[in-house]
Amino acid sequence: MAYKPRVEPDFLKIMRLLNARGNLTEQERRYYENKQKGYDGEVMFDQLVTEQLRCEGLVLNDLLFKFNNTYFQIDTTIIFKETINLYDVKNFEGDYYYEGGKFFSINGEERKNPLLQLERCESYFRQLLHSLGYKCNVVSHLVHINPEFTLYQVPRNYPIIFPSQLNSLRKKLNNHQLKLGDYHKRLADKLISMHIIESPYEMVPAYSYEQLKKDMICDKCQSFSILVVDGKLVCHNCGHQVLIEFGILRCVEEFKLLFPKRKITTTVIYEWCGGAVSKKIIRQVLKKYFRTIGYGRWYYFE
Ligand SMILES: [Zn+2]
Repeated sequence: MAYKPRVEPDFLKIMRLLNARGNLTEQERRYYENKQKGYDGEVMFDQLVTEQLRCEGLVLNDLLFKFNNTYFQIDTTIIFKETINLYDVKNFEGDYYYEGGKFFSINGEERKNPLLQLERCESYFRQLLHSLGYKCNVVSHLVHINPEFTLYQVPRNYPIIFPSQLNSLRKKLNNHQLKLGDYHKRLADKLISMHIIESPYEMVPAYSYEQLKKDMICDKCQSFSILVVDGKLVCHNCGHQVLIEFGILRCVEEFKLLFPKRKITTTVIYEWCGGAVSKKIIRQVLKKYFRTIGYGRWYYFE
C-alpha cells in the first residue's frame, strides 16, 4: 500500500465530463486524451511495480513541488534506507529514436527529450532535500510503460526502463530490506506536506451550466443511453447496471465537481439528470445522504 496513494486528478474528471457533455473543442479533447493517457500510464506502473513490492520502502505517488519559483512533478518516489528512487512514467506509443543526444519520433520530428525533464526534476529534488537538511542518495529513471513503444539508437547507459524490464525492476526493488527509521518517515511526511494541490478550475476550459447536456451518464462508457429498469439504471450501450440511488449520488458528485458554488436542491439534480428519474426519488436520496439546510421552499442539501 502506497504511503501516498495516487488519486485521479479532478482535472481529468472534469475534462471527462466536459468531453461527454459536449463542451470541448477538438484541440481541448486531444489535450484531455493526452493527459488521460499519461495518467493511465502512471496507474499501470503502480499496478505492475509499486503495488506489488514487498520491501522496506515508502512509496509516494504524484508529488508536485514549488522550489525556487519553479514547479516540478514526480510521478513516483520511493524512499529506501540507502537511496531515494524517482520514476517518471511515459506512456508513449510508436517508434522513436535518439540521435546526437536528441529525441525524435520515427518521422524525424524532434520531440521534447524526456531525459532532460528527468534530469531537471532530479536536480530540483536534490536541492529541495538539501534545503530541508536531508542528505540522501537520489537515483532517477525514466519508465516507458507502453508495450507498443520502441526506442532505437538508445545508449545503454541511459537511465531508461522498458516494459520488458519491469519484472526485473520489481525484483531489484524487492531486495531493499533494510528497515526504515523515523528519519525516513519524517521525510516522507515533510514531502507530502509540501505537495501542492492545484485547483482544477484554472486548468480546464471555461464552461457554463447552460452549455452542458443534462442527462444521466454511464459510469463505464460515458454514454447517455441510460434507462430505468426495476429500480436500476441500465446502460444500453455497455450493459453496466447500478442501483438508482447510487446513480443519483454519482450525478450529485458530478454536479458538485463541475459547479462547486451552486446549491444542491431536488430541482437542480432533477434537471441535471435530464428528468430521467422522478423528483420524488431524487428527494428521498438527497435526504438520505445529505444534510438538509434551511426550510420550506428554500432548503438545500450539503
Ligand atoms: Zn455504458
